[in-house]
Amino acid sequence: MTVYLVGAGPGDPGLITVRGLELVRRAEVLVFDRLIGDELLDEAPAGCVLIDASKRPDHHTMTQDEIDACLVEHGTAGRLVVRLKGGDPFVFGRGGEEALALSGAGVPFEVVPGITSAIAAPAYAGIPVTHRNVSAQLAIVTGHERPGKETSEIDWDVLARFRGTLVFLMGVGRLGEIAGALIEQGKDPATPAAVVQSGTLPAQHTVTGPLSQIAAIAHEAGIRAPAVTVVGDVAGLRDGIAWAETRPLHGRTIAVTRARAQSSVLVARLRELGARVVEAPTIRTETIEGPQLRGADYDLVCVTSPNAPRLLLDRLGGDARSLAGVRVAAIGPGTSAALRACGIVADLVSDRFVGEGLVDSLGDVTDTRVLVARAEEARDVLPDGLRAAGATVSVVPLYRTLREAPRDIAAVLAADVVAFSAASTVRNLAAALAGSDAGAVRAVSIGPVTSEAIRAHGFELVAEAAQHDLDGLVETIVERFGNRQPT
Ligand code: SAH
Repeated sequence: MTVYLVGAGPGDPGLITVRGLELVRRAEVLVFDRLIGDELLDEAPAGCVLIDASKRPDHHTMTQDEIDACLVEHGTAGRLVVRLKGGDPFVFGRGGEEALALSGAGVPFEVVPGITSAIAAPAYAGIPVTHRNVSAQLAIVTGHERPGKETSEIDWDVLARFRGTLVFLMGVGRLGEIAGALIEQGKDPATPAAVVQSGTLPAQHTVTGPLSQIAAIAHEAGIRAPAVTVVGDVAGLRDGIAWAETRPLHGRTIAVTRARAQSSVLVARLRELGARVVEAPTIRTETIEGPQLRGADYDLVCVTSPNAPRLLLDRLGGDARSLAGVRVAAIGPGTSAALRACGIVADLVSDRFVGEGLVDSLGDVTDTRVLVARAEEARDVLPDGLRAAGATVSVVPLYRTLREAPRDIAAVLAADVVAFSAASTVRNLAAALAGSDAGAVRAVSIGPVTSEAIRAHGFELVAEAAQHDLDGLVETIVERFGNRQPT
């Protein structure tokens, strides 16, 4: 088997390559560095052995020799080994040493390049490392070496004269010495400079200033590793190009409590708006098996949650035509959209998120045969209302929601806001908290039923979505918590 030296990209989990992600998903052994985020590690298959190269049982980091030996050992054992490294494996990543160790041991290996922080962090800060008529050259330099060392590997005099862009990795602590060495060798002290901390991540923070001041400015702002420093006129382009830090939810932390399977859309939307998202699923859904259903047995099918359409279709033998001629009603636009994804267009969508709304809008249902497709634990408002109106109702539970304690409760409590899209997730989070800290949960709710649960459990209800679906929830979060930037 092969050992893959894979670049994970600069931090944003979306910036790993397609090839890299595919290998992570197939890995049997994953050896990773300190800066690799949980989102990528979560992509490893169940049963994959995760080895943190930055942590030995004695809490020291593994030495490079130990890492090389570990790769050789697992590679020789015939496992699919992924060595996941920040940025690009060959840009100050010691990937070359690992490749040499593997080739020396006769272990087959491949290199999957990654997006380096040297280019991506400036890009996310609105700084193009080259720019027509501004910079035609790029040098990527380690900031690790102490300037003024007797035998320097770095040509400070050349860099001082270099008219292109300089990007320093590592060594934010040496910023003063680096700037000093450049200026001493003749670099203009007024040269624009920028330091980008945690580039491409939600915590990204950039400071700018002239080379002579940049160390003091970064120090003042509390800039820490990991950070890259850009020196050159391109740093001055940031004013017009900055984009990541001006997104509406940049700098905000939002906890999302939907079941993991359904949360992806919401999580992706919030991340695109710049938020740090803490995924805290408190529920997961479990399919309830049952006999096949026939659309012909019913006059009306009511679908009450976005989870139900896919499972309903399965129970109809995977053939949407089974519902030909049957009226279909959906509660809420999310359910209607999920039906559409299954090739079923609802005849009627309740404009209210609550079951009461649907009974009213169905018209005369006397002697109508109704199938209510829903969660096992759903409320009985709809079936009761239909029966009271003279319908024959079969309730078919398609799934049940099970409680799951969030992995990191502290992160949920520390979030600026917790987004609740169902009353069940409120109850489950409350159960996980077991009475403590309920008041620390600042909640945004998708609609009235969820809001009621939020109040009942002592959470602070900060806002309720005006429109009771995911779009409405996101909109309300942006309105209440977003940076008010001119657009
Ligand atoms: N192979 C990596 C670099 C490893 S050296 C790459 O290609 O990006 C580690 C240094 O990379 C850090 O000290 C810092 O200077 C830089 N770095 C890594 N991730 C970063 C990030 N998200 N933002 C800013 N700098 C980062």
